[in-house]
Amino acid sequence: MILTCSRCKKEKPETEFYKANSTKTGFVGKCKMCCRAWHKAHRQNNIDKFKAKNNAYYKANKEKCLARNKIYREHNKEKKKAMDRAYYIKNKEKHLLKSKAYHAANKEKCSAISRNYQKTHKDKHNECNRLYHKRNKDKIKALRLANKDKRKIYVRENADKFRGYCRKRQSLKRGNIYEPYINNYIFERDGWICQLCGQKINRRLKYPNPRSKSIDHIVPLSKGGDDSPTNVQATHLRCNVGKNATNKGQLRLFGW
Ligand SMILES: [Zn+2]
Ligand SMILES: [Zn+2]
Repeated sequence: MILTCSRCKKEKPETEFYKANSTKTGFVGKCKMCCRAWHKAHRQNNIDKFKAKNNAYYKANKEKCLARNKIYREHNKEKKKAMDRAYYIKNKEKHLLKSKAYHAANKEKCSAISRNYQKTHKDKHNECNRLYHKRNKDKIKALRLANKDKRKIYVRENADKFRGYCRKRQSLKRGNIYEPYINNYIFERDGWICQLCGQKINRRLKYPNPRSKSIDHIVPLSKGGDDSPTNVQATHLRCNVGKNATNKGQLRLFGW
């Protein structure tokens, strides 16, 4: 059967019309295309109303909606993934801003989560880091070069911390036992008295002043000594260097 659309006035086969019980022909007066266009326009014109209606429905049937969504997601995994990805790319700026704002507002929470994640996913985290470094080699190199002076200042200001890292690395490399400790704790424990010459250590003097503080390994790391509180003592830098010189019969590079 050929029908004429009441809107676009075109003649179309009956398959192009929706069925209706209440009309004489058994079909809707408008063709499918016109119906769709009308619905679309109608929805756009009353978007707030539709949204409110949808929201109300969602609220009243939350369980049902969520279950339906879940089933849909499970059946259309690939599609959903692609959709999410497309949405992310399209709204990247927005997304980044949003996540930045969230991080700024929930700093403590976010860093706790990420710290925890790093701890529980150590291998994955390390692998990710390694891949990132590999992929962004030039970027990291450039960044390092750009922040060279900043880094120098930071290292100088946190010299104790970096010497600690260095000691840790050295003792782990040698297979010695490593037990973390804080330098100042060792100096406090030994009463800021040099354990080699018995004189007071001035805590304000800084490396490379010969009378500045220094951590000495009672049994040297090179002889299998632990890097632990029980094997370290407070000394003057000059006394520490002097001890190493007499032990080895030569002046070794001191410091780290
Ligand atoms: Zn039509
Ligand atoms: Zn001394």
